[in-house]
Amino acid sequence: MIMSKPGYCTKCGKKAVYHRKYEGTYLCRGHFIQSIEDKVRKTMRKGKMIGHGETVAFAVSGGKDSTAALYMLHKILRKRRDVAMFAITIDEGIAGYRDDSLKIAKKLCKKLRIKHHVFSFSDELGRPLSDVVKGLKKSGKWEGTACTYCGLARRWLLNRKARELGAHKIVFGMNLDDEVQGIMMDYIRGDLMRLARMAGEPLVQSRLFVPRIKPFREIPEREIGLYALLNGLEIQENECPFIEGPRFKVRDFLNTLEAESPGTKFSVLNTFLRLAPGIREVVKKGGFELLRCQKCGEPSSQKICKTCELWRK
Ligand SMILES: [Zn+2]
Ligand SMILES: [Zn+2]
Repeated sequence: MIMSKPGYCTKCGKKAVYHRKYEGTYLCRGHFIQSIEDKVRKTMRKGKMIGHGETVAFAVSGGKDSTAALYMLHKILRKRRDVAMFAITIDEGIAGYRDDSLKIAKKLCKKLRIKHHVFSFSDELGRPLSDVVKGLKKSGKWEGTACTYCGLARRWLLNRKARELGAHKIVFGMNLDDEVQGIMMDYIRGDLMRLARMAGEPLVQSRLFVPRIKPFREIPEREIGLYALLNGLEIQENECPFIEGPRFKVRDFLNTLEAESPGTKFSVLNTFLRLAPGIREVVKKGGFELLRCQKCGEPSSQKICKTCELWRK
């Protein structure tokens, strides 16, 4: 047993690169990387995320989370000969933002020898996001709505393409901070339907839905950032220019609480995960029927799905 000394690795005594407050440990480069990968393996095992013989699609944007997810899961899964992998990048059509990240995603896929597919809103929905935002700006009520348009269309397109390409799972890079912010936002907006889906399982089992998995769910954002940095991963660091406001306030609020009492974010996530089965039941009891959209054929709770309603008018 090595005596722990501030600034030196709790496990080996080498100079530390990270102080994990919620655990009371200091970690050197090697032990930090190992601890993250062990934790992700555990999250994946616990959630039975990837089964035998499955094909896994990575949703890769070029940002730090999805880039690190592709890099790390490739490292973890490459020894499993029964698992096949490919990557999908959605080009939303945000001039000057998506171009760089597309290049980054392409480069990493080439390096890891993973097939990379790119699909754009322009080709699949008829117009780029920039166009939608222009229209919204004219109507004077665009704030916050760009993310709704974009998020819906991205989910719609990823699900459709991953399914067509034979994926059993889609990997998303959402980290602990993303998850906890999402949970709080859903509470604030009263969006039970979204909350019910957050835990990962779809409300209704259907082969039309490719289940989404989030192996980074229990890793704080700054630890993913450090993991990417320590592994020399190239990432797109600019934030999307259309990002909305309320989420920032929730993020700052959670960061303040976490600084005062380390472990707060884990507490929010774990409480939610315990409640999730109950929340799903409540939503189902409210009457949830799975239909197929009359316009695009994708699964929907309405005759016309939300994506078609917003994008194809
Ligand atoms: Zn160490
Ligand atoms: Zn539709």
